[in-house]
Amino acid sequence: MNSLSTPGLVRDVRRFGTFDANACLNCGTCTIVCDLSNGSISFPRRTLRKALLGLKTSLQGSLEPWLCHDCGDCTIYCPRQAEPRQSMNTLRRYLAAQYDITGLTSKVLTSRVWGIGANVFVALLVFALALAYHLYYVELEVSDLLTMPTGMEHMFDLIEQFTIVVFAIPLLVMHANAYRMYRFNALQPAGPRIPFRHYLAEAKTIVVHMVSHKNIRKCVQAVHQKRWKKHWLLGLACTIKFVIVIFFLSWFQTDSIYPVYHPQRWLGYFVTIVLIVVPIDIIVGRIRKREEMHKISDPDDFVLPVMLLLVALSGIALHIFRYLEFALTAHFLYAVHLAVAVSLVIVELPFGKWSHVIYRPLALFFQAVKERAARETAVVPTHHAGNELATKEAQAA
Ligand code: SF4
Ligand code: SF4
Repeated sequence: MNSLSTPGLVRDVRRFGTFDANACLNCGTCTIVCDLSNGSISFPRRTLRKALLGLKTSLQGSLEPWLCHDCGDCTIYCPRQAEPRQSMNTLRRYLAAQYDITGLTSKVLTSRVWGIGANVFVALLVFALALAYHLYYVELEVSDLLTMPTGMEHMFDLIEQFTIVVFAIPLLVMHANAYRMYRFNALQPAGPRIPFRHYLAEAKTIVVHMVSHKNIRKCVQAVHQKRWKKHWLLGLACTIKFVIVIFFLSWFQTDSIYPVYHPQRWLGYFVTIVLIVVPIDIIVGRIRKREEMHKISDPDDFVLPVMLLLVALSGIALHIFRYLEFALTAHFLYAVHLAVAVSLVIVELPFGKWSHVIYRPLALFFQAVKERAARETAVVPTHHAGNELATKEAQAA
């Protein structure tokens, strides 16, 4: 075995899900049918070869798994049933774990006990904090806690600080992980250093892709065209929800009833409808498994849509009971809503499947930077002739 090959890499990758690429005969059909693969970036065949050849460093610096949008065309046309779509999905999970400095992503994505247990633990922690707040800060008796309606606004000062902490945790982790992704990608041993000005020049790529979901729209088949609209709507609804919670929390942390034309009402309704309709559509698709893109190999893939749905349902139940002036019920529902939402933000966003919201745009950004550098120097940045790694990379290519 070549010293630059990592023995057991495929075994390590398989801890994260299905990886049947050793059935692959390297024909390239999958790359030809993929709408997102092109002259400057080629996948999935080449990416799968990196794993099969044990090229760990090269695989860690790969952007391709994040550029794949999981449509499944490659799997449909693969003559060997090597399931390249599922393998790319597994590689995304493997890469997310490689970037994560805390090691929690690896645990959450490889163990069901950890994946579900971490969410349950955070939810219970939120309940415990809510209980401690009411008993020791508000100084309610236990009997009053279960019978006395206290409204929402008494929590406002502390809940603002709590919200800052809740969002600061994933923000810090994801910044550290994004930096590791940059290091893996930009400091490939065989690649030349890319000048910083190219990163500045392409910074807009992150925003453009986050706003427009431009890459997924390149999947041209009708079924995928419908999919990007749902994906875009879900992204928009989650963004609005985050902006409201971070900057306009007082709209919701209130006992006042707003008129229907107030943004608290119509933005809240829009977000709730999208967070109910799209996750249900995803869950039903994954249960029916009619299209290739809905065939999942891991039941954990239900966790994110189910949690998004629970956030919306608990939010709408809270809203209804508040308007019906069932203050005590609304108070308890608020704790449930908070518990699910906080788990989503603290566990699923930095360590779970939801982390793709940052890695996908970053991958497109790094790819755009590489292409810009390559255009300027007329050198393909990831390949460098004359060393051992280049030889192995050439085999993968
Ligand atoms: S994964 Fe399938 S389609 Fe792709 S190169 Fe291998 S055998 Fe061919
Ligand atoms: S799942 Fe779709 S986007 Fe991903 S590699 Fe296969 S064909 Fe390309």
